[in-house]
Amino acid sequence: MEKITEYFGSMVFDERVMKATLSEKVYKSLKRTIDRSTPLDISVANAVAAAMKDWAIEKGATHYTHWFQPMTGVTAEKHDSFITPAPDGRVIMEFSGKELVKGEPDASSFPSGGLRATFEARGYTAWDPTSYAFIKDGTLYIPTAFCSYTGEALDKKVPLLRSMEAINKQAMRVLKLFGNEGVRSVRTSVGPEQEYFLVDREMWKKRKDLVMTGRTLFGAMPPKGQEMEDHYFGSIKTRVAEYMADLDKELWKLGILAKTKHNEVAPAQHELAPIYKTTNIAADHNQLTMEVMKKVAERHGLVCLLHEKPFEGVNGSGKHNNWSISTDTGVNLLSPGETPYENAQFLLFLAAVIKAVDDYQDLLRLSVATAGNDHRLGANEAPPAIISIFLGDELTAILEAIENDKPYGGTAKEKMKLGVDVLPQFSKDTTDRNRTSPFAFTGNKFEFRMLGSSNSISCANIHLNAAVAEVLKQFADKLEGAKDFNKSLHDLIKKTIKDHKRIIFNGNGYDDSWVKEAEKRGLSNLRTTADCMPKICDKKNVDMLISHGIFTEAEIYSRCDIMLENYVKSVNIEAQTMVDMARKEIIPAVAKFAADTASAVAVKKSVSKAACKYETKLVEELSVLIDKMDEATTELEGTVSKLKTSGAITKESEYVRDKMIPAMDKLRAAADKAETMTAEDYYPFPAYDKLLFGV
Ligand code: ADP
Ligand code: MG
Repeated sequence: MEKITEYFGSMVFDERVMKATLSEKVYKSLKRTIDRSTPLDISVANAVAAAMKDWAIEKGATHYTHWFQPMTGVTAEKHDSFITPAPDGRVIMEFSGKELVKGEPDASSFPSGGLRATFEARGYTAWDPTSYAFIKDGTLYIPTAFCSYTGEALDKKVPLLRSMEAINKQAMRVLKLFGNEGVRSVRTSVGPEQEYFLVDREMWKKRKDLVMTGRTLFGAMPPKGQEMEDHYFGSIKTRVAEYMADLDKELWKLGILAKTKHNEVAPAQHELAPIYKTTNIAADHNQLTMEVMKKVAERHGLVCLLHEKPFEGVNGSGKHNNWSISTDTGVNLLSPGETPYENAQFLLFLAAVIKAVDDYQDLLRLSVATAGNDHRLGANEAPPAIISIFLGDELTAILEAIENDKPYGGTAKEKMKLGVDVLPQFSKDTTDRNRTSPFAFTGNKFEFRMLGSSNSISCANIHLNAAVAEVLKQFADKLEGAKDFNKSLHDLIKKTIKDHKRIIFNGNGYDDSWVKEAEKRGLSNLRTTADCMPKICDKKNVDMLISHGIFTEAEIYSRCDIMLENYVKSVNIEAQTMVDMARKEIIPAVAKFAADTASAVAVKKSVSKAACKYETKLVEELSVLIDKMDEATTELEGTVSKLKTSGAITKESEYVRDKMIPAMDKLRAAADKAETMTAEDYYPFPAYDKLLFGV
C-alpha cells in the first residue's frame, strides 16, 4: 500500500514543488508575494507558469483552468489546453505568465445582481498565489478571484481577501499598543466541520425531489428515525467506510488536511473535519471538499447530499466554522496567555468579538441565509435563528467579576485588575459542551455553527472578519489616544462587557423560553432569508462594510439581490417539482390503490356477505386525501403562476415566504398522510426508511 506521507499533496504545486522547480530568485520573489501580498513581477510569473506547466504535464495534465467562486455558491471553471500550434504542424505545450495571472471568462452568464447592467459584461479572473494550484482530473487548477473589468467583485473570494486585510490592519494597531515587536501580520484561520448525508444512488434516481432540489419534498417519517441516537459516533458501515477511505485519499492528494470522520446524529448522516487553515485557503479547500465528496460518492453507487435539510423530521446538516485570529509569529489571539499582559490582550480580543457579534447580529445571520438553511435556523432545530454567544460558566464569571469590580474565584481577595493580575486559570475542556449555541467559545477559538452544509464559508467569514475589524478599529482609536493605557484598557473592557453582555447566553438554545428571553434582551430573531437579507442594505451595515473596503455600495446592493434571487429561485423550483410529483406520481398512485381496493371490495361483496368495513373506510379516507392533494396542488400551482407579478425581488421573496412555502407545506401534509395509508408496492418512489437505512 502506498504511504499517506508519500501521496499527501502529490497533486499540489506547493512549497516543496516550488522549491524544487523554481530558481532561488523566483522562489523568493513568489514567497514574498504569498506572505506579504507584494505585487508579482511578470518575469516571475512567466517562470512560475513554465514550472507549473512542466510539473502538471509530467503528472498527466493536458489542460489548465482558472478556478473561481461566482455568486452561484458553487465553483466555476473553463478548461483550456496547453497546446499551441508549432509552424511545422506539430503542437507544443505552452503556458505563459500572462495566462497564469489573468483569465477572461465570459462573465455574462454568472449572477452579478445588476452590476453587469452598469458595468461591462466581461469579467476577469486573477490568480490568488496564496492558495496553491493543484491538479484534478487531468487539469491544472489555478485558484483565482473573479472581478468585473472595473474591479467590482463578482465572487466570494475578493471580499474575503479584503476582509482578511481589514482585520489584519486593525488587529496590528491593537497589537502595537501591547508592544508586540516582530509581529508582521495577523491572519484568521478556519476549520470547517462538514456534515453530509449518503444515500443509495439507485434509490436517489427514483426521487425527482432529490434529483431536482437536493432534498425530499415529500416523505412520511419512518417508525425509526433518530430517536435511538444509536447512529451518533456509531460504528461505520462497510460501504460508508470504503467511501470515507476513498474520500480521504482523494482529499489528501489535493493537500487537504482531512482529519476526523464520524457518523452524525441522524441515520445516514456523517461528518468530515479538516485541520484548520488560513481562511481563504480553508474556503478553497472546503469548496473542493464538497466537490470531491459528491464525485467519490458516484464511484461507490452513492449520492452525497449536501442540502441543509434533506429529510423532514431528521436533523439537518450544518457546517461548523471554527474561527481564530493569530499572528505570523504563531500567537493565537483568542488563547488566554501566561502573563498579565497577554491575558489583558486576550480579554480585549474576546471583548471585541463579543461586541462585534452583538453589533452585527444581522450581518452574521444573513451571511448564512439560504432557502435550505432556513429549514434549520428558522425551524425547531439547532441552532436557532437568534444569534448568541456561549462562553462557558468560568469565562462568564471572569467577565462578571471585571464588570462589577469584584474578585473572581473563592480565594482571590483583590478585585481583578487587567494588565496587572494574572487571569485565573480556567479549564478549556468545559467550554465546548453546549451544542445548541450558534456561536460558542471553545477554548481558543469561536465556533460559528449557523452555516448550512452547502454554504460557501466565505460569506460568514467576510462578515465576521469585517465586524471584528470594525470593533478593533474603534478600540484602537480609543486606546491610541489614552494617557493611562492600563486604566483605559480596563475601562474599555469593562464597558464593553456591560454594554454587550445581552448577547452572552450559556443555556439551552432550543428551549422555547430562550426565544422569549432573547426578545426581552432585544436580540433579533430573523427566521427566514426574506426577513434577514435586506438588512445588509441598512445604513449601519453599508457604512461599516464600505469603510473597511470590504464592499462597494453597488456590490452590497447587488449581493442582496443575488441572494434573494437565489432564495426565490430555489423555492420556486421546489414548488414546481412538488406540483409535478403530486400530479404525475403521487395522486395517480394513491388513486390506483384506492380504486384497486374498491374493486376488491366489489368482488368480495359479490361472493360473500362480509361488510368490508376496513376496506370501505380506507377507500373513503383515501378519496378525501386525494381531493385534498388535488386542491393543494392547484393552490400551489396558483402561487407559482402569480410569483412574477408580486413585484421587485424583495416583494417576491416575501411572497415566497408568505404564500408559496405555506402552500407547499399544505400539499406535503396531505401527501405524507396518504403515504402512510398506501400499500408500499403502489408508492412511486422509495420511502424514508429505504433512503435512511438503505446504505
Ligand atoms: P469538535 O468541535 O468536534 O470538538 P475540535 O474542536 O477539535 O472538534 O475541532 C474542530 C475543528 O476546529 C477542526 O477543524 C480543527 O482543525 C479546528 N480548530 C482547532 N483549533 C483551531 C484554531 N485555533 N482555529 C481555527 N480552527 C481550529
Ligand atoms: Mg466542533
